[in-house]
Amino acid sequence: MDLNFDREHIWHPYTSMTEPLPVFPIVSANGVRLKLENGQEIIDGMSSWWCAVHGYNHPVLNKAIEDQIKKMSHVMFGGITHQPAIDLAKLLLEITPKSLEKVFFCDSGSVAVEVSMKMALQYWFTLGKTQKNKFLTIRSGYHGDTFNAMSVCDPITGMHDIFTGILPINYFVESPSCSFHDQWDASSFIPMHDMVSLHHEEIAAVILEPIVQGAGGMKFYHPQYLRELRKVCDKFDILLILDEIATGFGRTGKMFACEYAQIEPDIMPVGKAITGGYVSFAATLTSKKVSDGISNGSPGCFMHGPTFMGNPLACALGKASINLLLSANWKENISRIESQLLHHFQSLNVLENVNDVRILGAIGVVEMKENVEMATIQKLFVENGVWVRPFGKLVYIMPPFIISDEELNFLCEAIVKVVKFI
Ligand code: PLP
Repeated sequence: MDLNFDREHIWHPYTSMTEPLPVFPIVSANGVRLKLENGQEIIDGMSSWWCAVHGYNHPVLNKAIEDQIKKMSHVMFGGITHQPAIDLAKLLLEITPKSLEKVFFCDSGSVAVEVSMKMALQYWFTLGKTQKNKFLTIRSGYHGDTFNAMSVCDPITGMHDIFTGILPINYFVESPSCSFHDQWDASSFIPMHDMVSLHHEEIAAVILEPIVQGAGGMKFYHPQYLRELRKVCDKFDILLILDEIATGFGRTGKMFACEYAQIEPDIMPVGKAITGGYVSFAATLTSKKVSDGISNGSPGCFMHGPTFMGNPLACALGKASINLLLSANWKENISRIESQLLHHFQSLNVLENVNDVRILGAIGVVEMKENVEMATIQKLFVENGVWVRPFGKLVYIMPPFIISDEELNFLCEAIVKVVKFI
């Protein structure tokens, strides 16, 4: 592979063009294994940034896209509909909270977040409450790389701090101090409660990742926080947006993480695993209350409609991927992965260089005391036969759900070895 060309001309995520971090040439991927150009196979611990939940080159997903490609790869969604979109929307409504009744298909997670925020704003605008034009969120969050999404990412750990001066100004409260496995501490909700009571007249919606904060810090917080939040949003007439883009489709041990709190959002963006990691796609679901609010006012329609909205290939994959998940014993499978992660990682807590170990569902996090040096650690992982891409102080894995006990064992042992070494 022409890595010199790549280095000179192709921008990779969060990378410099003058001093790019090394990239590893991958020629194919099968099951949980990525094959490097030199023939070495490595076990994937990332599910390609958390989306390839069924692994790679899956026969069922391959067939779904092949069958659909023969019928129609794409057709505009304005004024046209098709069976794959209807099938996927039906499935989504079956597995998501009951009050969500309307589905808006979009291109990526960040766009689904934009759509969610736009829905909230347009809802209040059509009700004549134009002063409700700000968002409230919690620190350590991450919601994507587009401008409104960036405005609710953690200003420091959310990767967009250099844009702080030009992003829309929103409200932040500290990230919930009561973690998932702790006894509920009511005082951890006070900052949120106080901020809502002070600014509710300006707040269109609270937006946050339910239970697991992903790329902004890999933190797991207590379900009671969400229950309290739902109550306070209802009391002060604020919409609740739960970003299930990273947590959705089983990753945390529930189909959607909000189920831990048994609450329902007003708006819910989903993405990543929706197509089993085959193509970029997402959806924003909302309630009749929100869609009626938007549709019954002026201009009478929701002002959004991307070119590739409802792409039939993506919809066919979405249907196949969700059905695959539902037909497997996914809950037992996630607890199998969780037990193994616990077994391997808990002992790391005693290491001098480790600050914390956190495990929930098929997510295992080792928080180091110092930032890791990406180029060095990435190379070490590959030499040890695994693909793990840490950030900051966080070494974590979110493996494909199809990973076998032996493969997971290998992956975890490699992590333990590297963490002990660095
Ligand atoms: N929201 C959450 C919670 C995410 O984790 C991400 C991506 O990591 C996004 C939104 C943005 O999704 P995408 O990268 O598909 O734009």
